[in-house]
Amino acid sequence: MPELPEVEIIRCGLEPLIVGQQIERVVVRTPQLRWPIPSELTRVLRGQVVHAVERRAKYLVFRLQDGNMIIHLGMSGRLRLSRGHEVPGKHDHVDIFFKNGDCLRFCDPRRFGAILWSATDPMAHPLIVKSGPEPLSAALHGDYLYERSRGRRVSVKQFIMDQRVVSGLGNIYANEALFAARIHPVTPAGRISLKKYRHLASAIKKTLRKAIAAGGTTMRDFHDESGQAGYFQLKLKVYGRSSESCLVCGHTIRQIRNGQRSTFYCPRCQR
Ligand SMILES: [Zn+2]
Repeated sequence: MPELPEVEIIRCGLEPLIVGQQIERVVVRTPQLRWPIPSELTRVLRGQVVHAVERRAKYLVFRLQDGNMIIHLGMSGRLRLSRGHEVPGKHDHVDIFFKNGDCLRFCDPRRFGAILWSATDPMAHPLIVKSGPEPLSAALHGDYLYERSRGRRVSVKQFIMDQRVVSGLGNIYANEALFAARIHPVTPAGRISLKKYRHLASAIKKTLRKAIAAGGTTMRDFHDESGQAGYFQLKLKVYGRSSESCLVCGHTIRQIRNGQRSTFYCPRCQR
């Protein structure tokens, strides 16, 4: 599932290639994604110039001359920019053709993604407005996490994965950030000290920045590439390393379920 870094990498890759470009036409093959694609989309997009590609949480916001297109990749969504017309595959649901000959294609085998339209402020869209602070912004800091978590019995891992608390943080990077901050993932959120939350806030930022930087190295080939940002570039320290040795202390990494999500931690480093 694409997490914040993957979405940010896609944004960085797309922006220079489509800002300033004019949309010629739009083909919707499968309107039924997580929510139906608005029926007016093909009509309203036609002729519009892309002014900016922004990201809020895991939403891509395409700022157009007149209105905004919002894309969420869901579980398996991909965006690919290709030259000219290629025969669409089974899961290629939407094509956006630009006047310069490029085509932005939305592919989503599991169809949990979404393409939405917002004529007014996209940041006030019901799906976006409740998103918590951007983890890479100054709004996310230890004091915020500490105050927000008082009285909460939920595990710290579930707490930081709550999109209203921190936006865009998913399972992989939550595991990695807790390891970096040396916090046991199932500790009740309300029992963690301010000092530890300060470590955690900085670990979240570092983990995400590293992931974005690693993904950035694949960006040169965004054009005519799959557009799918990979986790393979990033060396994960705990996620997916069940029964392997901790890279810090050598103890065996343990895997448990927490909040129905796979949770990995080092019992010696994270207490
Ligand atoms: Zn360890």
